[in-house]
Amino acid sequence: MTATRVLVLNSGSSSLKYQLLDMRDGGRLAVGLVERIGERTSRLRHTPSAGGGESRERTGAIADHDAALKAVAEELARDGLGLDSPELAAIGHRVVHGGRRFTEPTVVDDAVLAEIERLIPVAPLHNPANLTGIRTARALRPDLPQVAVFDTAFHTTMPESAARYAIDVETADRHRIRRYGFHGTSHAFVSRATAALLGRAPEDVNVIVLHLGNGASASAVRGGTCVDTSMGLTPLEGLVMGTRSGDVDPAVIFHLARVGDMSIGEIDTLLNKKSGLTGLCGDNDMREIRRRIDEGDERARLAFDIYIHRLKKYIGAYCAVLGRVDAVAFTAGVGENAAPVREAAVAGLDQLGLAVDPELNAARADGPRIVSPAGARVAVAVVPTDEELEIATQTYALVGKANS
Ligand code: ADP
Repeated sequence: MTATRVLVLNSGSSSLKYQLLDMRDGGRLAVGLVERIGERTSRLRHTPSAGGGESRERTGAIADHDAALKAVAEELARDGLGLDSPELAAIGHRVVHGGRRFTEPTVVDDAVLAEIERLIPVAPLHNPANLTGIRTARALRPDLPQVAVFDTAFHTTMPESAARYAIDVETADRHRIRRYGFHGTSHAFVSRATAALLGRAPEDVNVIVLHLGNGASASAVRGGTCVDTSMGLTPLEGLVMGTRSGDVDPAVIFHLARVGDMSIGEIDTLLNKKSGLTGLCGDNDMREIRRRIDEGDERARLAFDIYIHRLKKYIGAYCAVLGRVDAVAFTAGVGENAAPVREAAVAGLDQLGLAVDPELNAARADGPRIVSPAGARVAVAVVPTDEELEIATQTYALVGKANS
């Protein structure tokens, strides 16, 4: 029997998200999430054959990632999908930071683990948790290929002119300061899916991808290759996000330290956790913000306007970076669902060939679709992202290559 299943693990500091996919058709055999690992109130929510089966829930202390993965393995085994199954081909891990070295998905060995560990100073919040997930899965199935799929990989093609900050080169290099970009699996998946939607090869299409979730980033993709993206050394740069500020004058930080008497840790928390939409109006959920706007709430209106203003600036910038734009693709929670955001983001950009058809834009649908008027010079598209499928696809392709 050929092994056709891939388990995708996305390991956070106190959470473990997983999906088991069948690579013959990309179908979900199971999806789930363990939350609050290390607390007494941990919770595992497991859904067999996503959407189809009844969800099951376990509550009570799950001490660490090792215990979490064992609990996941037990749930999978209850559905006859145990991790000891010969049908499991590999485990694919989302790893946030791959630095400059990891430009492709990579089969994990000791040297790869050491390199991911070496990158912790540039990804202190994410890489340690990702490493824990890989180590745990390796201990459970040492014989199985474990593949690391990096959030930064798709952006490693950015030219130096886009990747470098204009700061002293020696200092930057000593501390590995450059723009790495994140959400790469999503930008890769969506830019390809957009080309497919246009019925063209990725090599022939220039796309601006707007990944608007709780975290948000834009990318400029020329012929399938990323040439610029809005996140930088960390996921803090760029667009206004749920709780992150995105771009600010770096001197804001000096000012807060000198005049506001805040510590570096406090400023870090302010910009990453208490800013963005949350900082502006107290809510980070676009549904809630739209509801408040409909009720005449001024703070919600201003937060929305600032969010859109920044988005427009990046759309304009990436039109300039690309020269010719074939499509602008909206994706992730906000991009896929919030028609008013799409409408406002391209409003007044007719000169750039951008517009939405109000009816197409407002219509709800699941799959990829074009929402610009027929015959528009630039297609405006809604393209649902699927990072887990992309991780599984890359993992399976790599393992298949290794076996052939
Ligand atoms: P992440 O993976 O970054 O946590 P998602 O891509 O799942 O985020 O996006 C989550 C966000 O999407 C929510 O915070 C909310 O703002 C937005 N969202 C989800 N559904 C809708 C909807 N129906 N209308 C408007 N916004 C939505």
